[in-house]
Amino acid sequence: MEIIKTVIELNKRLKEEIETNNSIGFVPTMGALHQGHLSLIEKAKEENNIVVCSIFVNPIQFNNPEDFDNYPLTIDSDMQKLENYDCDILFLPSVKEIYPRADNTIYDFGDIEKVMEGEKRPGHFNGVAIVVKRLFEIVKPNKSYFGKKDYQQYLVIKELVKKFDIDTNIIGCDIIREFDGLAMSSRNMRLTDSERKLASIIYQTLIKAKEKFNNTSIEKIKKWVETEISNTPEMEMEYFEIAEAETLKAALQKQNNVKYRCFIAVFLGKVRLIDNIELN
Ligand code: AMP
Repeated sequence: MEIIKTVIELNKRLKEEIETNNSIGFVPTMGALHQGHLSLIEKAKEENNIVVCSIFVNPIQFNNPEDFDNYPLTIDSDMQKLENYDCDILFLPSVKEIYPRADNTIYDFGDIEKVMEGEKRPGHFNGVAIVVKRLFEIVKPNKSYFGKKDYQQYLVIKELVKKFDIDTNIIGCDIIREFDGLAMSSRNMRLTDSERKLASIIYQTLIKAKEKFNNTSIEKIKKWVETEISNTPEMEMEYFEIAEAETLKAALQKQNNVKYRCFIAVFLGKVRLIDNIELN
């Protein structure tokens, strides 16, 4: 695997691929790689001639400075994992390389960025949009891979590409889970052993909410989830929402022919975990 740290060098390297009409698959990450990230690499490898993975912990998407300071850095093992998955190029830029000058663009993606993560983490999606747009301009990928673990982010990126007519195909990939259902996340390694044992309650609760979806009102499901999570004193629920999968409009009543997902954010001790599943 080639490791490239500058935009100039990456441009030069990818020019060769573009000139020979090779397709470029791109997987942007913040490192601390796990099987979730690697499933995106695997898919990108299947569908493209060359795969670029970026590792860049984007300072401007952290609305909480403590979260940024505590974000895990495991670059040596990340490189090993990428090697094992035959990733072709690792792009490992510095902050100066990505932001030679500050980018203060304010984006408006409408309602999809204003609810849930957008509401609870002000500025987060703006920071994500700035970095992903910059990375798309640098890498010029044919296809770009995003996990549905961050489903709202996936919709924001699709909107970004549409709004600015960016020529890349956004591919949404399924959530990869631990043996007990916990959605894989770089933040999971910050859980204590006892917190880790409790963490599967989040997914189990979503699965039960899905089972109830056919024959229980949305209001009742929401109340039930709230009670269920509050039964674990180590957990504090930030939100649980049932929303239309395409628009993220909160579902008040179920309509035929509309796809719904449910979304949850929970603090387990100091660690904030999010998850979501499709309901129908
Ligand atoms: P991150 O490093 O957290 O910014 O994630 C980089 C990419 O990996 C994003 O598109 C995430 O949605 C995706 N991702 C993270 N965790 C998972 C998971 N458990 N399953 C699938 N994709 C994931």
